[in-house]
Amino acid sequence: MKILVLNSGSSSLKYQLIDAETEEVVAKGLAECIGMTQRSGQIIQETKSTGKIAFEAEMDCHDEAMDRVFALLTDPEMGVVKQVGEIAAVGHRVVHGGEKFVQPTLITDDCLEELEKMSELAPLHNPPNIDGIRACLRLMPGVPQIAVFDTAFHATIPDYAYMYALPYDYYTEFGVRRYGFHGTSHQYVAGLALEMLAKQGIAPEASRIVTCHLGNGCSMAAIRGGRVIDTSMGLTPAEGLVMGTRSGDLDPAILVYLARRLDASVSDIDRIINKESGLLGLSGLSSDMRDIEEAAANGNARAELALEVFCYRIRKYVGAYAAAMGGLDAIVFTAGIGENSPVIRERVCRDLGFLGVQLDEAKNETERGRAVDLAKESSRVRVLLVPTNEERMIARETMRVIAAAEVPSPCAEVVKIEPASAAR
Ligand code: AMP
Repeated sequence: MKILVLNSGSSSLKYQLIDAETEEVVAKGLAECIGMTQRSGQIIQETKSTGKIAFEAEMDCHDEAMDRVFALLTDPEMGVVKQVGEIAAVGHRVVHGGEKFVQPTLITDDCLEELEKMSELAPLHNPPNIDGIRACLRLMPGVPQIAVFDTAFHATIPDYAYMYALPYDYYTEFGVRRYGFHGTSHQYVAGLALEMLAKQGIAPEASRIVTCHLGNGCSMAAIRGGRVIDTSMGLTPAEGLVMGTRSGDLDPAILVYLARRLDASVSDIDRIINKESGLLGLSGLSSDMRDIEEAAANGNARAELALEVFCYRIRKYVGAYAAAMGGLDAIVFTAGIGENSPVIRERVCRDLGFLGVQLDEAKNETERGRAVDLAKESSRVRVLLVPTNEERMIARETMRVIAAAEVPSPCAEVVKIEPASAAR
């Protein structure tokens, strides 16, 4: 039995075929440059037997891309899928589930209709996700399609943490509130972190951890007793930490000021905060942390500033979340930067001694690619490096839905959590 995991972006489609029992990745691939006129499309697929192979492929839309991918997966010569019946279900990453979808959901016609409405909240992300779902429904009739939402793990955030202090009607009428993203990643690494803490005598229900997903997009979550109580991204993935090209937190009136000074349109402002800011905007060099670290090491002052702004923002959130949870047992680092950059982990932890954080510098320098504790024995707070695996989490969630005797209602009730006293 295999689970196909799909992640459809605006011009790309990433996929993994995962063995449901062993969680082994049988095949993985990427269809890129979908619908682009200036560059021709290609599909890169990797399997154990074929290694990595690339094919040129014209793909005007996600529907066509999925046709190509499906043909490749079921190609008799490739031997990946001999018959469609081997695919037990398809798990789709869907970015925004709003307040309606707070758990992985079997896709029905009603559900698709609801998802279409949700596109208003994520106009760049949800439409390609839906295109991927429709293509799979067409190509694999009868195979359950499950939507796994980036927002869902954050559904336990209490109202006082997800509300913005704007006129209340904007929440009720337009859904303006904090939702949070990268949920499958935070969920995956939090699960492993709680297992690691349990071995050190910290019970999951009493645990207080901060997960830091630091990649091109960056977000943090405060997780108490295994449930998220706050997260740094908001209505959209632009809020919170400094990212590759996104600004993160801003004085909202800056946008008004810039609109006046630049005579800028709404889409100009959108572009500035999402595509021209963050590490790229600060350094003027690159959105890639490797370039920033290298330039800073060679004495580039703006790259050094970008590094410090990036790490200072993370430290501020660690402090805020420790206060929100009434203490801290572990900081968890994951994603491209969190997993691979000793420099960033060291800078984040440097001034957190007062909280009980003591990083083992030797371990921090040498450890890579596995879940490991980077804190000194004497550290009150554990510093955990946990490689993320969003595809595996989506496959697990997909299996959970199809294994359940009763498939959950497509549109779950909104979870309202009573604020816990410690976080008040
Ligand atoms: P992701 O979105 O998780 O793929 O992460 C992408 C980010 O990880 C980019 O900013 C990369 O520069 C960064 N990254 C990957 N490897 C390293 C590394 N060895 N040191 C610092 N940053 C890295």
